[in-house]
Amino acid sequence: MIELKIDSEQTMLELGARLVRTFSVGDTVLLEGELGAGKTTLIRGMLHELGWLDPVRSPTFNLFSVYSTEPPVLHADFYRVTSTLGTGIEDYLDTHLCLIEWPKAMHELMDLNACKRIQILIEGDGRRVQLSNISL
Ligand code: ADP
Ligand code: MG
Repeated sequence: MIELKIDSEQTMLELGARLVRTFSVGDTVLLEGELGAGKTTLIRGMLHELGWLDPVRSPTFNLFSVYSTEPPVLHADFYRVTSTLGTGIEDYLDTHLCLIEWPKAMHELMDLNACKRIQILIEGDGRRVQLSNISL
């Protein structure tokens, strides 16, 4: 487990850029932290690094967005749901790098998904970022 203190939006974007280079298709990244913790900011840093320059927003209402980057990315936000059954997300787990905000709703899928799973927890005003199953 790695723990970092990320004290600005810019540093969060830079961390995303650094992390995404260590991920590949089939990885599932679970991002946990309160509303406003910086989960989407970290994902924005990842997508920018992959060349996506348009806006990146939490897909709270659509549940997920798909980006035609390399590797292709699925960005989900399951804040509003308690289960992902019926959302179709399982179709993307093997073919995309999946970045999941509010991943608790994915509990039914977790046992099925043999892919590499990475956990990121963002906590507190000082934005302590804990990374599990990652080597930088
Ligand atoms: P979440 O997706 O976790 O709800 P966001 O990424 O939307 O959170 O970030 C919420 C706000 O916090 C944004 O205005 C963003 O610029 C700011 N922010 C993100 N990371 C940091 C940080 N490490 N330090 C200070 N502000 C940050
Ligand atoms: Mg968000």
